[in-house]
Amino acid sequence: MKYFSTRGDSERLSFEDTVLTGLAPNGGLYIPEHIPTLPSDWQEKWKSHSFVDLSVEVLSLYISEDEISRDDLRKLVEKSYSTFRHPDITPLQKLNEKLFVLELFHGPTFAFKDVALQLLGNLFEFFLARRNAKKSSGEPKEKLTVVGATSGDTGSAAIYGLRNKENVSIFILHPKGRVSPIQQAQMATITDANVHNIAVKGTFDDCQDTVKALFGDREFNEKHRLGAVNSINWARILAQTVYYFLSYFHVQAISPGARIQYVVPTGNFGDVLAGYYAKRMGLPMDKLVVATNSNDILARFWKTGKYERVELGAETVAALTNGAPDGKESVVAVKETLSPAMDILVSSNFERLLWYLAYEAEGTGSVDAACVVVDGWMKSVKSDGRVEVPRKVLELAKRDFTAERVSDDQTLATIRRFYESEPSYIADPHTAVGLTAAQIIASEPISNPSPIRVSLSTAHPAKFSEAVAEALASFPAFNFDRDVLPEEFQGLLQKEQRVIEVGSADVDLVKNVIESKVSA
Ligand SMILES: *Cc1c(COP(=O)(O)O)cnc(C)c1O
Repeated sequence: MKYFSTRGDSERLSFEDTVLTGLAPNGGLYIPEHIPTLPSDWQEKWKSHSFVDLSVEVLSLYISEDEISRDDLRKLVEKSYSTFRHPDITPLQKLNEKLFVLELFHGPTFAFKDVALQLLGNLFEFFLARRNAKKSSGEPKEKLTVVGATSGDTGSAAIYGLRNKENVSIFILHPKGRVSPIQQAQMATITDANVHNIAVKGTFDDCQDTVKALFGDREFNEKHRLGAVNSINWARILAQTVYYFLSYFHVQAISPGARIQYVVPTGNFGDVLAGYYAKRMGLPMDKLVVATNSNDILARFWKTGKYERVELGAETVAALTNGAPDGKESVVAVKETLSPAMDILVSSNFERLLWYLAYEAEGTGSVDAACVVVDGWMKSVKSDGRVEVPRKVLELAKRDFTAERVSDDQTLATIRRFYESEPSYIADPHTAVGLTAAQIIASEPISNPSPIRVSLSTAHPAKFSEAVAEALASFPAFNFDRDVLPEEFQGLLQKEQRVIEVGSADVDLVKNVIESKVSA
């Protein structure tokens, strides 16, 4: 299996190069040459498989055996998921006859990104070790320097994915004093020699700009072989397809023959895109439900066919007048919500779906033609902040997806509703966005019998404690420490932390830190 960029260029990459490169040089995202179909006996053969067994089956459809042998793949997957606390890795919880939550937060940082980042770290290590084994003793070793910015949440999942990995170092920039104490502690208490937390005096945008500048500095980039772990990395999408299969079998075991509909709290479109690949491979499911918070570019797309950064009219004007005077786009319109991991302006992985829609709408079977169309659309998004796709494309998008927008008030009400339900369930605010969308869809008249809905739970409620505490404050019986706080978080704030402080968001200052740590 080879991979190519959604924006064209004739180059075809191996899985290894795709994973190590991340973003294509022309700005596109890598997708597989074709979407593999499932073996004819998959239902019978896979139905009792564990998460690890299923990972081996699904991943090997996308990774040629001569790149990673089945034995090596199994070892990598076993190692990656040995860090999870639950035997099912991603267990299913029944809320009522028609509604389940698929809990994706049983990894080391209590959030769904662990599912992908635990595997990604091991893939990096595996590829580098193999490259270095081929070198003669005098040759310098190949190393990877991962650099990223975080507003709090993704940094820790990346750090836990890469800690202690041979030939890999990781530098995570966060805005000093602007991440929550728990998030800060989750990152800074990891003191492995290859992990470096950099606290930058400035905002998250300053951190992100600094990281972009480092990647744009060709000399520095080549010297240190900078790597990215953000959600556009193909390996992350691939790792996430597995829990759709696992939960499908779990639902079938409980309710044989039931139709299934997945509901996915969405930000950068990585989680739900994995479901789309599973669907296209042949996993039976109803339309995927894209659940957004009030940063609703995707929900608006499915209503109008317009993909645009901000709504026109009063909202834009309001956003602009509150905007930063330096005119940075990301400051202009992103809204702070109770589900911050979904606060986005544009969804980076959406480009992959657009490619498939363009390909099918073109109808010529020409890969190059679809790339040209996507390249045009993405240029328009970059220059004008918007693109409107042809009606045919929107119809195709509606065939496989539907979308709902959920407000903060609805999110809080949903947390309360499930807390009061039997069985009582405490959802984190991101999970509650999905559960709200599931409820909205369930209330619409549809074909009988209605499907069983599986709503993806992307974080443990202790991770976003403020929203949970706010929602449940009025219940006298509720006690956060007793009902929510996991053992692993207790005492975390008292543990020793290691952070490197940088006085301003200055690229050269950050470069100096990286230089000195990498050479040490
Ligand atoms: C990243 C994240 C999401 C959004 O996932 P995408 O793949 O970006 O759509 C939702 N919830 C939590 C808790 C996350 O960390």
